Amino acid sequence: KGSNGKYTVTLIPGDGIGPEISQAVKEIYSAASVPIEWEEVSVAPILKGGKTVIPDVAINSVKKNTVALKGPLATPIGKGHVSLNLTLRRTFNLFANVRPCVSIQGFKTPYDDVNTVLIRENTEGEYSGIEHEVVDGVVQSIKLITWDASERVARYAFQYAKSSGRARVTAVHKANIMKMSDGMFLSACRQVAKEFPDVSYDEDLLDRVCLQIVQNPKPYADRVMVMPNLYGDILSDMCAGLIGGLGLTPSGNIGRDASIFEAVHGSAPDIAGKGLANPTALLLSSLMMLRHMKLDNYATKIEKAALSTIAEGKTITGDLGGKASTQEYTAAIIERLAKA
Ligand code: NAD
Repeated sequence: KGSNGKYTVTLIPGDGIGPEISQAVKEIYSAASVPIEWEEVSVAPILKGGKTVIPDVAINSVKKNTVALKGPLATPIGKGHVSLNLTLRRTFNLFANVRPCVSIQGFKTPYDDVNTVLIRENTEGEYSGIEHEVVDGVVQSIKLITWDASERVARYAFQYAKSSGRARVTAVHKANIMKMSDGMFLSACRQVAKEFPDVSYDEDLLDRVCLQIVQNPKPYADRVMVMPNLYGDILSDMCAGLIGGLGLTPSGNIGRDASIFEAVHGSAPDIAGKGLANPTALLLSSLMMLRHMKLDNYATKIEKAALSTIAEGKTITGDLGGKASTQEYTAAIIERLAKA
């Protein structure tokens, strides 16, 4: 917190629709008088020693502020380019990816009672990137699970459950097959569970969860699910589908050295610069950020204004079936804030 009573937060507007949706968030924040000062940086890669890297200015800004809001980054296809998202994850040790999946009232989807939070281990497991060819036609990919990373993400899941008033943590696994790796992940979860006697704990198989949650998401409401990397990657996209897809799903990357909040969607090059983008996912990500910073009151106020604008259905963007531009939708939220 600076001498002006405001918190400085790094803002990475990103590519494609990134600048438009970031602008919407900034306008809504100023209308709600959120005590945040944005430090805007670009992570457009630069060439350093023959390699593409993220500029130091951006890295240092996130390091200093420890909290960032990030727009989508277009990942260039082809060899020789690092994935900037992966670089950020590694640079800041972003060990937990948090994705709340909560049905938005008034936006019609096949289900209206989804309310779960997925927490995915973000640094190892199947995505450790350790692969090699054993002999011609035979490759091996190593799934690496460590006690430390498992325990760290498990502890975060329990803390999250406790602080968000969720009654249960479920560890999602395939320890029936991967007895040692997922088995150890479960052992770590069980051990951490003992530190949280007021949060109940259970375990469920990934395939069973997939089947059951698409048949009836209700029993999964009010809980947090924690799991290794690959399972979380797939299950969280599936759950995003249950609540109406990309325009509405926020996420947070929680790290040891910093935390970066971002929408789940990409840079949407097909609609970039046209004023059609839905800023809700980035806005909801920023509200996760406010709660992470213990600025819950502001988050609640903005959330109400945004969700009631969607529920009313008059001024919503094209992806939600409406006709409003990004700017009109933003103005409608601001108008509600003023009335609140
Ligand atoms: P995308 O999420 O950008 O777009 C998929 C579809 O959803 C498009 O039709 C798009 O118009 C629509 N859409 C997405 N967000 C929207 C929004 N807020 N409002 C309205 N419509 C929206 O996925 P893609 O086309 O596969 O990827 C485009 C680029 O984004 C690629 O370079 C990809 O690598 C990158 N990407 C980045 C991230 C990230 O930075 N976290 C995540 C995913 C994809």
